Amino acid sequence: KEKVQLMDEEKIRRTLTRIAHEIIEKNKGTDDLVLVGIRRRGVPLAERLADNIKEIEGKAVSIGVLDITLYRDDLSTLAQQPVVHKTEIPFSVQGKRLVLVDDVLFTGRTVRAALDAIIDLGRPASIQLAVLVDRGHRELPIRADYVGKNVPTSRKEVVSVQLKEFDSEDGVVIHEF
Ligand code: 5GP
Ligand code: MG
Repeated sequence: KEKVQLMDEEKIRRTLTRIAHEIIEKNKGTDDLVLVGIRRRGVPLAERLADNIKEIEGKAVSIGVLDITLYRDDLSTLAQQPVVHKTEIPFSVQGKRLVLVDDVLFTGRTVRAALDAIIDLGRPASIQLAVLVDRGHRELPIRADYVGKNVPTSRKEVVSVQLKEFDSEDGVVIHEF
């Protein structure tokens, strides 16, 4: 099927630099700042943002990981349900400015599950959301604070996010299935 390239390696690099600046600006620096990547591709994105923040501010920020997958629980349920499998957050979230990082924002159900999992651990000062691509179709009142690219999609389209940490190259491609 037809494929359209939305972002190449350079575009992704510049976008993550821009978002790192936005995170620093909104939070007035890096005090109490932590990043939490949503597995799988939110994790390398969080790591790249932390690298950029380190470069800009000279300060290291901690990174946690949430493992959330969508599954279709039974045939009577059309919508996919997010399930939190594992939380690897090796720091207290209490009082932190916590930035969730994911590759694609779609219905918002994964982020909702992430919010539940984090709030179970304590009370952050704030929870923010950074995504590389917002493809629309929200089903919950959730929005991202930092967006790499807004991509209007049809429900039949899928956004393929490729990152060197897992794939042969960096790129974002949209295709129909
Ligand atoms: P949501 O829970 O908002 O419906 O979907 C977001 C989650 O599903 C994200 O963790 C994201 O990785 C994945 N996802 C949803 N739609 C797409 C898509 O078009 N492309 C990719 N790569 N991931 C998607
Ligand atoms: Mg995901």
